[in-house]
Amino acid sequence: MGRPELGRYRAFLVDLDGVLIRGGQPLPGAVEALQRLRELGRVIVFSNNSTRSRRAFAARLQREGFAVAPEEVVNSAYILGRRLLELSGPSKVFMIGEEGLKEELELAGHRLVGPEEANFLVTGMDRELSYEKLLLALRALRRGARFFAANADPTYPTPEGEVPGAGAVVGAIQGMGFPPEEVVGKPAEVAFRVALEAAGVKDPRDCLVIGDRLETDVLGARRAGLESALVLTGVTSPDELEESPIRPTYVAESLAALVGVKPREGRSPRGGGGPSLPSPRRRSRSRR
Ligand SMILES: [Mg+2]
Repeated sequence: MGRPELGRYRAFLVDLDGVLIRGGQPLPGAVEALQRLRELGRVIVFSNNSTRSRRAFAARLQREGFAVAPEEVVNSAYILGRRLLELSGPSKVFMIGEEGLKEELELAGHRLVGPEEANFLVTGMDRELSYEKLLLALRALRRGARFFAANADPTYPTPEGEVPGAGAVVGAIQGMGFPPEEVVGKPAEVAFRVALEAAGVKDPRDCLVIGDRLETDVLGARRAGLESALVLTGVTSPDELEESPIRPTYVAESLAALVGVKPREGRSPRGGGGPSLPSPRRRSRSRR
C-alpha cells in the first residue's frame, strides 16, 4: 500500500483520539499534517466523543495548535441532535450524558425534560452515571420514550488509561431490557452522512476518512462508500490489522506519515507517547 494521492480528494474526515491527539497531547507532526490537508481540501474533525460540544471541541483543539473552527467539528452529540430533528422535529428529550451533549441537543432545537414528558431517551458518555439516572431512564422508557445513543464505544482512552465509555451507559439500559433503537456515532451511516454534509461533499468517493479504529472509522467508511486510511498511532495494532477482515484503503504509521510531513522535534507527547510503532517491514506487509 503506497502513499495515497491525497490531491484527488475534496475533503478529509479526520478522527480525533489516536489520530490528532493521544494521551492529552498532539501527536508528533499532527498539527502540521492537518494544516497540509487543509491546503488540499475541506477538513472535518470527526469524533464519536459526545462529552463536548462542537464549540468546546474546537476551543480545545485550538489550544493545542490545531486551526479548527466549530463548523469543522462533527461529533456524536451533534449527529444525535441532527438525527432526532430529522426523525421528528424539535423534540422533548430526557438525557443521560454530559454538558456537550446537552448543548448540542439544545442548539438543534430540542428541549431537555424529565422522564414523564420525554419522547426520547438519549445517552452519551456520562462520568456521573448513577442508579437514580437509570431509574429515571426506565420511567421514560416505560412511558414509551424511544432510545437513541450518541455512541456505544466500550471504553475511552485517557492519559491515565482506559475508562468506561458511552457503551457502559447503553449496556446498563440494555440490561434493563431496552436496546437502543439507533446508535448514531461511527460506524452508523447517518454519522458519515452528516459529516459529508458538513464537508460540503455530495459524492462519498471524493472524501477520505482517516482514523485509528477498524470497527468504527474504517468499517463505517466502507459501508458509507468512502475510502479510508488507518493510522497506527491509536488503538489498532499491526497484528489486529493483520487479523481483521475489515480492510482500510491505506495504512500509515501516523497522520504525519500519511500526509508526508516531518514531525518537528520537541512535539512528542509527554511520557513517551504510548506503545512504540511497528517496524517498516511489518507495516508494509499486505495479505490481500
Ligand atoms: Mg480514534
